[in-house]
Amino acid sequence: MIHPQLKLLPVPWQAALSPLPPTILSALRTEEPLKMHTTLRVGGPAQLFYHAQSRDLLAQLAIAVQQGGVPVMVLGDGSNVCFSDRGVRGLVIRNGCTNATVAPRADVDAGHSLMRLFQKSLNAELTGLEWAVGIPGTVGGALVSNAGAYGGNICDLVSSIDVIERGERKTVSPDWMEFSYRDSRLRRDDTRPAILLGAELELSSGNRREIRLKARDIQYQRICKQPWEPSAGSFFKNIHDHALADSMPGLPPLFKQRGVVTSAFLIDKCGLKGFRIGDAAVSARHANFIVNMGAATAADVRALAATVRSTVNERFGISLEEEVLYSGDW
Ligand SMILES: Cc1cc2nc3c(=O)[nH]c(=O)nc-3n(C[C@H](O)[C@H](O)[C@H](O)COP(=O)(O)OP(=O)(O)OC[C@H]3O[C@@H](n4cnc5c(N)ncnc54)[C@H](O)[C@@H]3O)c2cc1C
Repeated sequence: MIHPQLKLLPVPWQAALSPLPPTILSALRTEEPLKMHTTLRVGGPAQLFYHAQSRDLLAQLAIAVQQGGVPVMVLGDGSNVCFSDRGVRGLVIRNGCTNATVAPRADVDAGHSLMRLFQKSLNAELTGLEWAVGIPGTVGGALVSNAGAYGGNICDLVSSIDVIERGERKTVSPDWMEFSYRDSRLRRDDTRPAILLGAELELSSGNRREIRLKARDIQYQRICKQPWEPSAGSFFKNIHDHALADSMPGLPPLFKQRGVVTSAFLIDKCGLKGFRIGDAAVSARHANFIVNMGAATAADVRALAATVRSTVNERFGISLEEEVLYSGDW
């Protein structure tokens, strides 16, 4: 007998999902509004939705959907995505797996909050994650976009990753991720996306007071700069190019020295702070944040991002690349 949650799905998907245990099948939801699961608060429904709370059940489901050809995406805390208003065809798995063994080699579920991991590492007097204070999201989401700030990046801590690819579970080394600045292979290959279950991260012994002071300083800098309205963080990637930074009039000396042209600088120079389409706005506080002023749609956000990109391109001849990932049926 077909489980009631599967009845409206295409027959091959029913066949792929039917052998799963009732604990998974009865927890499947349909037409789940994705705006409730993202920090930007936009996006339509997921055709099928599952909130995973155990690494083993997540693995079982991931293997079944990958082997059965069901379109799937795993969502962490939704702090780096912009879902389309039409929503997502197939299965969205919200990763709520949050186990962690915090030690010099920490073993962490991909659904564990990055910030909470910092707090646990502070309690264990382990250093390495101070840069993560103030970055919302899960370890899995951080790995996918090689999250980082204030000189730290998650790729520098990873020693191995527990992953499911093409229906097979395996342990891979960091090289497999092909990390670069705010990028990994998982951002590029959306035809057969791999699913991250967990990772081992290398931390070092540290002094609790020093760790706390460093983190507090970073948190203070964030509070001074970041907008309060819903957003997905920095919308565009910064540009790492020494020659460009050297030749850019008005770029602060610190950025010239580091060879970084920030997207915020370029957008601000175009006079776009506060510019708005519908309820999506370029933050008046930080030009590289697109914020939701109340009832923004995904279409508003995308149209605003396109306007920002074309304005910067016309003025500076520079193509901005989105750090935020568009997902779903556009
Ligand atoms: C206020 C604010 C400040 C921010 N500051 C920073 C910052 O300083 N530095 C920075 O790098 N980022 C920053 N971000 C962006 C974001 O928080 C990070 O990119 C974060 O690591 C994303 O994690 P997430 O769990 O929310 O990922 P999600 O948004 O849920 O997912 C992002 C992508 O990863 C994929 N994914 C997530 N989990 C898995 C998994 N287990 N397996 C396979 N794929 C997966 C998703 O399918 C999606 O494609 C900020 C965001 C906000 C809102």
